[in-house]
Amino acid sequence: MYDLIIVGGGPGGVAAGVYAARKRIKVLLVTDTFGGQSLVSADVQNWIGTKSVSGFDLGKMLEEHLRAQEGIEIIDGDLVEEVGKIEGGFQVKTKSGKSFETKYVLITSGSRRRKLQVPGEKEFESKGVFYCSICDAPVMKDKVSVVVGGGNAGLEAVLDLLPYATKIYLLERGEHIKGDPVTFEKIKKDPKVEVLTQTETLEIKGKDFVTGLVYKDLQTGKSAELALDGVFVEIGAVPNSEFVKDLVERNPFGEIVVDHKTQATSCPGIWAVGDATDVLYKQNNISAGDAVKAVLNIYERISKGKGA
Ligand SMILES: Cc1cc2nc3c(=O)[nH]c(=O)nc-3n(C[C@H](O)[C@H](O)[C@H](O)COP(=O)(O)OP(=O)(O)OC[C@H]3O[C@@H](n4cnc5c(N)ncnc54)[C@H](O)[C@@H]3O)c2cc1C
Repeated sequence: MYDLIIVGGGPGGVAAGVYAARKRIKVLLVTDTFGGQSLVSADVQNWIGTKSVSGFDLGKMLEEHLRAQEGIEIIDGDLVEEVGKIEGGFQVKTKSGKSFETKYVLITSGSRRRKLQVPGEKEFESKGVFYCSICDAPVMKDKVSVVVGGGNAGLEAVLDLLPYATKIYLLERGEHIKGDPVTFEKIKKDPKVEVLTQTETLEIKGKDFVTGLVYKDLQTGKSAELALDGVFVEIGAVPNSEFVKDLVERNPFGEIVVDHKTQATSCPGIWAVGDATDVLYKQNNISAGDAVKAVLNIYERISKGKGA
């Protein structure tokens, strides 16, 4: 039986793995891939200690750091599909049919972006279609961009783009902008911003890079095309938390509810960190930091000989 199974190999999972191995915890890390969501980012400029690194290289750095740890067992290319309670701990089952027993579980499975699911979106991902404005707004320097989604994330994206873009369209499907009214008032006053409500994105166009977006005006039923250089999709994220839905408390967004002091979930013996949780800000450094917090709390539990 393992002391700990870590689910996920993003910044949260890797930080947890490094700390757990150094505490000599009997630990197994199961992940689909290494590096997490910013793997697709062209340039990560805020991973502390590194001025600039591509998401791909960040993933390699994380994997290398983890594999350098003595004693850690790693399974990659597999997904945890089920976690169930057993006497003294949990049984963890993977997609490939493997099954493991552990005293404790740490979930760091992150989230996936909610996609527009329109033609061109997949083709131009990271070539003008972006899902993280904090990370990729500088690419829009002196360029025209659109933010799809009028919730708080969309408004934040417009704010992130204002110092760079020459023009920003904000597209919202509903009748009204749903994000914070104070932020919206501020954004609306800027002559660079044009708000288009009751619009549905139909297609993203481009050659090597994005060149335009086709949308339908839901009032008139007519479609129109905007010429632009970048599309920021801000229509939410979907936490990868389905495999523990019957064990831990999740909020209406599917985020795992945690105690932010310890990262413990509502189920004794299960901890969670990062984008899979109800943490307010979702960033690489935050997932890594919260993972350290969780492992130290788990270690305290193990060293005191407490069960789940
Ligand atoms: C395009 C993009 C660019 C970004 N750029 C930046 C940036 O520049 N700076 C920044 O700070 N933040 C950035 N972010 C946000 C940042 O990537 C996230 O906050 C961070 O990756 C969250 O880390 P995490 O470890 O919680 O989860 P994730 O990074 O989502 O990692 C989850 C890991 O779990 C694995 N996994 C998922 N489900 C399972 C399962 N069932 N079983 C096993 N493994 C599973 C995945 O393969 C992945 O390895 C960006 C986000 C996006 C989408």
